[in-house]
Parts: sequence; C-alpha cells; structure tokens
Amino acid sequence: MTDSFEAKGKRRKLVEELRSKGISDEDVLNAINKVPRHLFMDPAFLIHAYTDKAFPISSGQTISQPYTVAVQTSLLRVKKRDRILEIGTGSGYQAAVLAEMGARVYTIERFRDLYIKAQHTLSSLGYNIEFFYGDGYEGKEQYGPYDGIIVTAAAPGIPQKLLGQLKIGGRLVIPAGNQDSQVMTLIVRNGEAEYETTTHGNFVFVPMLKGTVNDKN
Ligand code: SAH
Repeated sequence: MTDSFEAKGKRRKLVEELRSKGISDEDVLNAINKVPRHLFMDPAFLIHAYTDKAFPISSGQTISQPYTVAVQTSLLRVKKRDRILEIGTGSGYQAAVLAEMGARVYTIERFRDLYIKAQHTLSSLGYNIEFFYGDGYEGKEQYGPYDGIIVTAAAPGIPQKLLGQLKIGGRLVIPAGNQDSQVMTLIVRNGEAEYETTTHGNFVFVPMLKGTVNDKN
C-alpha cells in the first residue's frame, strides 16, 4: 500500500483544521500528519479520509473522527517507549498514531475480522504493534502495567480491571456514559489506590460491549 502526494496535501490541511479546533500538542499533530488515514478505510473513500469525520468500517464499527483521536492522544501525553494499551483496535488508525509517537502499542479488538484486517494494514505499513483478539474489559495484564490506556468505545462505567493495570502515574482516557453521549474522562493513577478524575468534553462512540465476535469466515 502506498501513500500519495494528493493524500499528503489533504493531510496537511486536516492538521491545520485540527489546530484551528484547539489541538495544540505538536507531537500529536505531527503523528496525524504522518499516518495515511485513507489506507485504513476502503481506498475508494479517499475523498472522505481527510475530512474531520468518523467513517464506517466493517463489522458495523467506525474509524474515529480525527479530532477525537487528537483529543484522546493529547490527554494520554505519550512519551517515546511508553507502554500503551488500546481497547478497540477497529481500523487500527489510532494504534498507528500512537506507534508514530514512539509508543509500544498493545491493542485489543472483540471482532475477529477487524482484528485480522488491522494487522494486515499495520504490518504492510511497517508498524510494529501487538494485536489481541479478546474482550477489552479484561485488559491485558501480562504486558502491563501501562503508562497509558485508551478506550476507543463508549463505556457505560469505568472498567475496574483497567484501573488496576495502570502504572503509578499512568493515565486512562475513556469516553464514559450512555449510548447517546459520553464524557471524555481522564483518570490519573496517583498512588496504589489513589485516582484523580477530570472530564474533557462530550463525544459519541460506538458501544464498548462484552465478549468477542468470531465473524471471520
Ligand atoms: N480505535 C479505532 C476506533 C474503532 S471503533 C480506530 O482507530 O479505528 C471502536 C472499536 O472498539 C470497535 O471496533 C469495537 O468492536 C471495539 N470494541 C468495543 N467493545 C470492545 C471490547 N470490550 N473489547 C475490545 N474491543 C471492543
């Protein structure tokens, strides 16, 4: 798969749009400028790939809106070599943005078909990411504790197992709320049993659901 001159130009414009919407973390903007989002969608949708909108992918899911990816990634405050766990691989786009920032990325998806597709996309682009097919409510304890955990689906509450897999000083970024609207929630683990919560605006995600779906035939 290849990037293109046209896509690069559209990407630069998208980055300026994100900047005008208040995204100021240069490392995040730089990563978004580098990841070829059109290659995470059906290539026929190039015209939609660099508009600031969510877009349908397979298994009835969506690739997150670039603004949402930028907000969540900014809240994580990723540093090089950080260990980051993502719940909800989807297209793999958010995982690629994290990898582009130098993070060691572990990502979990509950749809088998998406899990397989994202691996193909990311390995063909040369990203080195660990993929898991499973239920993100469980987290992935054996690779933790994590500097950051990012949930990219709407959680009805805060999954307790994820809190326990954060390092002291680690950050959980999770859209929490009902199906119609969620509040972007940042929880920083300040001590063994000490957590500090702040909120960062309203968003709409597809739901975080329990269990796995084996839809690969
Ligand atoms: N980060 C993705 C966004 C995908 S949408 C991207 O950049 O494209 C959210 C994804 O979360 C969907 O693929 C959905 O199947 C997945 N998901 C929902 N609940 C989950 C769970 N409990 N465990 C793992 N993945 C889950």
